[in-house]
Amino acid sequence: MTVTNAESAAELSAPAAAEDPLVGIARQLLIEVGEDPNREGLRDTPARFARWWREFINYEPGSMGTLFESIGTSQLVVVSDIQVWSLCEHHLLPFNCSVTIAYRPTGQLLGLSKFARVAHYYAHRLQVQERLVDQIAAEISNLCGAPDVAVIAKGEHLCMSMRGIKAAAQMTSTALRGEFSTSPALRSELFDLLRT
Ligand SMILES: [Zn+2]
Repeated sequence: MTVTNAESAAELSAPAAAEDPLVGIARQLLIEVGEDPNREGLRDTPARFARWWREFINYEPGSMGTLFESIGTSQLVVVSDIQVWSLCEHHLLPFNCSVTIAYRPTGQLLGLSKFARVAHYYAHRLQVQERLVDQIAAEISNLCGAPDVAVIAKGEHLCMSMRGIKAAAQMTSTALRGEFSTSPALRSELFDLLRT
């Protein structure tokens, strides 16, 4: 090998950055499904696959806990239609969810953007929809100290739409904490509000 200038000499002596093991896994996956990972359209696919997985798993939600003093109590606060993408842990296929979060502040109000951050944070991992709503509800309660929290998610799962019965369907999951689980009146108030 002939080294022609100082720059390439430095390049050659620098240790190569270790390849993300996910690149090798993607290359192997392509081979297993009968593809040639070296053909033009696929050459960069393993690296893209690895980058996407790292981005998804290492999601940084930013600060989740900005609090404001509440002016009134027992008011119902509802943040609806937060759109998140997650990955079904049974099939490693995406599902998207429209998440609605309701709570009754007990002296502390959570900043509006935090609801979306919390929802995205728990969506960016291998999930099932039931656990997703539970984790969001627990985190909201934990952040603002309110025991009465309800989380409702409507999801469409590619593992249903694309495989198996191949029918697009929406699945609804709810997590009800505090009085949302014990008071039919509070639940009706919430569901009436969501219908309008
Ligand atoms: Zn699935």
